[in-house]
Amino acid sequence: MCPATSRGWDTVRIILLGAPGSGKGTQAAKLAECLRAKHIASGDLFREEQAQGTELGLLAKGYMERGELVPNDVTVKMILGRMSQAKGALSCILDGFPRNQEQAAALDQALADAGGPGIDRVIYIEVSEEELVKRLGGRWTCRAHQHPYHVVNAPPKTPGICDIDGSELYQRPDDNEETARRRLQVYFDQTAPLVEHYRAQGILATVDGERTITDVGKDLVAALQ
Ligand code: ADP
Repeated sequence: MCPATSRGWDTVRIILLGAPGSGKGTQAAKLAECLRAKHIASGDLFREEQAQGTELGLLAKGYMERGELVPNDVTVKMILGRMSQAKGALSCILDGFPRNQEQAAALDQALADAGGPGIDRVIYIEVSEEELVKRLGGRWTCRAHQHPYHVVNAPPKTPGICDIDGSELYQRPDDNEETARRRLQVYFDQTAPLVEHYRAQGILATVDGERTITDVGKDLVAALQ
């Protein structure tokens, strides 16, 4: 299932691109485990900052509750900081970043300035808008590590409890109907154009995100070969 590390997969940089609810968080976590890569999820990092009550967390909170993007300057700084911690030794999987043209340009520039390798592959997980709306409404997330569940598609073994770490499941405040709709609108306006940005760079692969979690995972690994 996993790409062989002997083929150089120990130092890859992958972006998972997709709408809120496309399953990129689920797939990124599985792929990171498989490749022993660092999973860098911008939304999770912001939620951690909030839980710790940092200045960045406080700033991000309002934007997240409205379903808007957190300003580019602080977001780019946070992600590049995490990537440089992983430098050299590890592959990394970016999940939720970049989310607009300015962030993509900042990432391209930072990698070029570092003189090392750029992004190896961008995988776009394609899901219809109708399915996204359904998924976001039924999503539950674990408090301890943000493991995602869905009432219908991926229910936990014990209701309300995370299978992996036993922590409580909760509904994210930005998964309510109004905010979820705004997040999808922001995605279609600002993030979806990145599909063409990376297609033009010749590093884009598309997988059908409406198959089962296992099948999407297999397609994702196949897209990396
Ligand atoms: P999802 O998994 O549904 O796509 P995330 O957890 O990735 O949601 O993101 C939740 C929120 O965090 C976003 O709606 C946005 O407010 C903020 N956020 C996450 N990533 C970024 C980013 N790259 N740029 C700006 N804001 C971001």
